[in-house]
Amino acid sequence: MKLRNQLGPRYAGEHFSDFMLRRRATNRQELLSWFEQIRTSTEPEYRALLSRMQRELRVEKLEPWDLEYYFSTLSPELESKLGLEGAWKRTTKVAGLLGFDFSRLPVDVKITDITFGGYTMPIWYGKEIKLLVSKHTGIRFADTILHESGHALHFSFVQEPTFILRDNYPPPMDEGLGQTMSLMMFRPEIATTVYGLSSDEASILNERRRLESNYSLRVLMVQSEFELEAYDNPQQDFTVLYDRVCSKYLDVDCHQSNTWGYDPFYAAIPIYQQNYVLAEMFAYQVHHTLDQRFGRNWGREGGSYLHDKFLIRGGSLTLDQIMQQGTGEGLSAKYLVAALKAQPTGAAAKSESK
Ligand SMILES: [Zn+2]
Repeated sequence: MKLRNQLGPRYAGEHFSDFMLRRRATNRQELLSWFEQIRTSTEPEYRALLSRMQRELRVEKLEPWDLEYYFSTLSPELESKLGLEGAWKRTTKVAGLLGFDFSRLPVDVKITDITFGGYTMPIWYGKEIKLLVSKHTGIRFADTILHESGHALHFSFVQEPTFILRDNYPPPMDEGLGQTMSLMMFRPEIATTVYGLSSDEASILNERRRLESNYSLRVLMVQSEFELEAYDNPQQDFTVLYDRVCSKYLDVDCHQSNTWGYDPFYAAIPIYQQNYVLAEMFAYQVHHTLDQRFGRNWGREGGSYLHDKFLIRGGSLTLDQIMQQGTGEGLSAKYLVAALKAQPTGAAAKSESK
């Protein structure tokens, strides 16, 4: 961090974290105001989730480790239904609904034991894409492989005149395309037809994602905000800093636990984790736009739209231009916030009122 802070002003003429945020197609002011919007407008939801955890786990005081554990106690029957078998085949079916045929795309898939969820590497944009996914099972595995397929579609279709432009797409859009695909599984129409769930199970799956996202987005915001403040002053006590940011978002005693030390992003891929928050905003905004235009079953027309407005994009347009052209407005947190809040009428009523 200290070295990067020295190199930033020397070669980029600005603070390292500002330079990196700009390269990642955002800026600190806008990012932190989205974080604040997400945190404050989902506060009642999050509080309700904490009380529910406390009640169901029967603990007097919630600890940070309870939060993550809690989600593993929800819908275990769905975990076995969405096992390891057929996850890639189902992913290709989801893509097929949109008119994308993975058997004709230059994508190599490998499922193996690795120490992270998944990674998709463009060896050669449009010609050779490698997709690597860790051998998990259940919802997480199905979700990850869908996410990676979004990267693979993007790297297969990106159309730009030069390598520099192909390679310099806005990262929130690339991660957002991953999340756009991953969200497909939580659409009842797809959960029931492609993933073989009953409509009750599909609503349970959807509700589980909503609850878990209320927690996991806060974790991502902790990781990102901690990193930005760490670069502001690498001399400060990171234990104290992490604790402050952690309890601000998670509302539990974080026990000065120093878990930031295990996060490989900080060393290897600095100023990246905010992309996952922006990706979630992107995905809900894109789903909203496609629902408006094509109804609940987007079909090939929806796929063509996704292709023409997003999947072919690299670095020629800014993120704002891409969002304006694809959704009619700049990137916004409002669709994500709406998704994180409870649907009082229930998922079934929502799909009827399309
Ligand atoms: Zn990704």
